[in-house]
Amino acid sequence: MARKIIAGNWKMNLLRQEALSLTAEIIGMLQDEIKGNVEIILFPSYVHLTSVSQLCKGVQHLFTGAQDCSIHSSGAYTGEVSSGMLSDYGCSHVLIGHSERRQYHHETDALLAEKIKAALNAQLKPVYCIGETLSERETEQHFERLRLQLETGIFHLDAQAFSQCVLAYEPVWAIGTGRTASPAQAQEVHAFIRHEVEKRYGQAVADDTSILYGGSCNEQNAAELFAQPDVDGGLIGGASLKSRSFINIVKALH
Ligand code: PEP
Repeated sequence: MARKIIAGNWKMNLLRQEALSLTAEIIGMLQDEIKGNVEIILFPSYVHLTSVSQLCKGVQHLFTGAQDCSIHSSGAYTGEVSSGMLSDYGCSHVLIGHSERRQYHHETDALLAEKIKAALNAQLKPVYCIGETLSERETEQHFERLRLQLETGIFHLDAQAFSQCVLAYEPVWAIGTGRTASPAQAQEVHAFIRHEVEKRYGQAVADDTSILYGGSCNEQNAAELFAQPDVDGGLIGGASLKSRSFINIVKALH
C-alpha cells in the first residue's frame, strides 16, 4: 500500500527566523495529527536546511528535503549543491523536476534522469514532479506529455531503485494560480500514472508508489482531493507557508 505523504515546498520564501518559527509551529501542532503510515516532508531553501533539519531531527514521521540537486557528486560546479552534501546535512528527500525548474532553468527530462540517479546514489529519495501545461491539456496532449516525462525521466530505473521514489502530479496550470484540478481530473491522471507504473514495474510496485497531487491545494479543497483512490497526499506550495493551513491539510489526509 502506498505511503501517505504531505510535503511542503517553501520555494524561495522565508528568512531564517521565519523558517525556524514555521518549523517549530509545525512540530508543535503535528504531535496529535500523525497516525499510521504517514510522512510529512518540509522542503526549505538550501540555506535553511541545516537549521530546519536539526529541529526536525528525532521527530517521528517528519523529514526534510531539498528543492533541487546537482547531477554531479563534487567538483568545479560553482553554485551547485550535490546530493551527498544534502544527505550529510540531514536531508532524506529531494524534489526533482519541479515545473519552476523545468520552466526557468530549462531542465529537460534527460537531465532530470541524471539528477534522479545522483540523488539515489547519495541515498536521497527523489520526489519526481511531472505535469502538463495549459496548452497541452487544452489540446489533449496531457497523457502523452506525462508518459514521456515518466519514460525519459524515471523509467530508466530498475524496480528496486524506483521503489525509493515518490511521484508528484503537478499540472503547471494549477501551480500558484489558485486554479486547482478537480478531484475527478486529479483521479483520472493519477490512475493513468499508476497504470503506466504498473506496465513498467508490475502491480505490486504500482500499488506501493505514492503519487502526490500538487497545484493550489489548500485546506478547503484538500479533503476532496485526498479522498480519491489514487491520490496519496499532496505537494503543497503557498499553503505550506502558514502552519495552521499546512496542519489542516495534514488533517485532511485522514
Ligand atoms: C508547488 O510549488 O509545488 C505547488 C503545488 O504550489 P502551489 O500549492 O502554491 O500551487
